[in-house]
Amino acid sequence: MATCKTCGTTLGRGNKSGFCRKHFNAAEYDPTWRERHARAVRRHYADPANLEAAKERARVNGKSPGATAARRAAALRIRLWEIGHRVLEGDEAARARAGRHRSQTVLAGIPEEQWDTYRLLVKRKHMSAAEARATCLREHETRLARIRRELMEAQS
Ligand SMILES: [Zn+2]
Repeated sequence: MATCKTCGTTLGRGNKSGFCRKHFNAAEYDPTWRERHARAVRRHYADPANLEAAKERARVNGKSPGATAARRAAALRIRLWEIGHRVLEGDEAARARAGRHRSQTVLAGIPEEQWDTYRLLVKRKHMSAAEARATCLREHETRLARIRRELMEAQS
């Protein structure tokens, strides 16, 4: 039985690369594989017939009794009616808490007094998130430098 060329893990019968999933993903098999695979997938779905066929398969599979039963079981298992956006409707305080938490996640690392600037840059000026983040941090540094200078001058 075939084993991974790196770690010696036993491989499945259909394995063609000679690597386990971990070492295949570490690009030891072929660093260009990911790019070639992405290109092949794009080429496949560039054909409207392939795209339509995939959509139709998804529609049919989504309505199959098995899929419906699985969705229902998952909803019951995780008690879907007790979590998520729907529960927050009509509870303004909870909505505010959720919004604040989301901002803290998305804007982590950016000082709070720069949040409005960040939103302006991304939403109105159509700057990329990375650019806006860098701009906000730069502005924050400039502001801190000015405050430090003013403090030094006040002391002397
Ligand atoms: Zn391995």
